[in-house]
Amino acid sequence: MVCATCRKPIAPGATYVRCSVASCNTGRMKLRFCGRACWEAHVPTARHRNASFVEETAPTTA
Ligand SMILES: [Zn+2]
Ligand SMILES: [Zn+2]
Repeated sequence: MVCATCRKPIAPGATYVRCSVASCNTGRMKLRFCGRACWEAHVPTARHRNASFVEETAPTTA
């Protein structure tokens, strides 16, 4: 699992940010971000109108 903006790996057990928009969480491309700054960079490129982010913890088992 890597950040969709900066491509940094998101380590197991690390806190990451997920986009609240449904289309970003379905299909092959499940977007994950290493932090709020990378999510904020994603919002204008995805043209979201009402977007928020959800902080989650990456699972420690693959
Ligand atoms: Zn990032
Ligand atoms: Zn999104």
